[in-house]
Amino acid sequence: MNLQKHVSLNLNLRGLGESPTLAMSERCRVLRTEGKEVLNNSIGQSPFPVPNSVVKALKMYAREKTYLPVKGLPELRNAVADYHRQKDGIDASADNVLIGPGSKILMYLLQMSFYGEIVVPTPCWVSYVPQAQLLGRQVKLINTTYEDRWHLSADSLTELCESEHDTYRPRIVILNYPGNPDGGTYTVEELKNIAKVARKYEVILLSDEIYGELHHRGEHVSIANYYSEGTIISSGISKWCAAGGWRLGTFTFPDNLDWLLAAMSDAASQTYTSVSSPIQWAGVTAFKGSVDIERYLWHARRIFSKLSNQCAEMLREAGARVHDPEGAFYLFPDFTPIADNLEKRGINGSVELCDRILCENHVATIPGAAFSRPENEFTLRMSYCNFDGSKALAASEAIPLHEDLPEGFLDHYCAKTLESTKRICDFVRPRD
Ligand code: PMP
Ligand code: GLU
Repeated sequence: MNLQKHVSLNLNLRGLGESPTLAMSERCRVLRTEGKEVLNNSIGQSPFPVPNSVVKALKMYAREKTYLPVKGLPELRNAVADYHRQKDGIDASADNVLIGPGSKILMYLLQMSFYGEIVVPTPCWVSYVPQAQLLGRQVKLINTTYEDRWHLSADSLTELCESEHDTYRPRIVILNYPGNPDGGTYTVEELKNIAKVARKYEVILLSDEIYGELHHRGEHVSIANYYSEGTIISSGISKWCAAGGWRLGTFTFPDNLDWLLAAMSDAASQTYTSVSSPIQWAGVTAFKGSVDIERYLWHARRIFSKLSNQCAEMLREAGARVHDPEGAFYLFPDFTPIADNLEKRGINGSVELCDRILCENHVATIPGAAFSRPENEFTLRMSYCNFDGSKALAASEAIPLHEDLPEGFLDHYCAKTLESTKRICDFVRPRD
């Protein structure tokens, strides 16, 4: 018997590697066990506790133990549909919703079930492209620019559809906003323009809105408003509800993509079966929402907004260009303006940049290359969630909602994140 792994490994897995966000966190963990003091700004994980009412629901349903329907607990599918009806103004019912153990696996099942082109604007979240690779497929990347605020434009989508041999070939475009890694969001005008092109060329949109509730002003708008018949909304409880480890994600389909939902559900039935029962029951409380959850989100946004703006300002002073943060918990500074200085120090791209920042200044970040950006670009993603969210939340709750957070709040409650930013700045700041 030949047990040599390189002979029998599925070709699609060769060179795939571990997800860079998860791998970097593991690297931090190992460095810490070696006694090194490393600040982890690599993983995107909410620092806040799961809202009390949702934890309470999980406790209450801890005895639920049966397999649930593959598509999801009916009460949860209903709550998710209601949520999107109310928040996004779309006409969804429980039948339009598919529940999975995280939106990540739903994206994988989507790529597996859909026989057509997958288009992704870059910078993009680290797993869309490797998921295609796992399936032996290729993704069509559209590189955006800093000047375009890292946004896909309606014009570039038109250009892609027109330039292909088969203009109306089946296509899915993955949009993600508020965006990981860029922390920006699309304007209503931009969304309307993209929706118009998608409708014209019959493109399906997968709108990854997992950070929707973390729009810093609470003003997230779904593109499904403007293209309801062709948009799948991806959401879940990992980010706004701070429950990434609970593994619950949702896809909401328009009626005429019911065939895709059915195919994915069949695939789910042959793979993960269904999401853990207590988690789905707790998810009902999360998606139904409450005044308490709204207040919790309000505080989370106020803290993220103030902190991210201060970090962005520090990075700019050190020579980076970075857009004003609008949502999620990431900044994506571009050090191109000081590239000469970095090159003189032997740094030729984002992987070296992040490696040197980690080795010399002990801050873990993720290179732009992991987000499908060119290797020689000087971009990186830093998450700004390495602070004690429970303490920061409690302190914010004591400050009236209509007031700004006072001077000194960040120094006190988000000191670690400011220290990470300072260390990154110290590293990149031009030296003679
Ligand atoms: N999309 C984006 C943009 C993400 O950052 C993540 C990371 N959590 C996911 C999808 C997957 O989230 P989950 O599987 O936890 O729902
Ligand atoms: N989405 C998170 C991030 O980008 C981490 C979790 C994951 O990638 O699955 O950091």
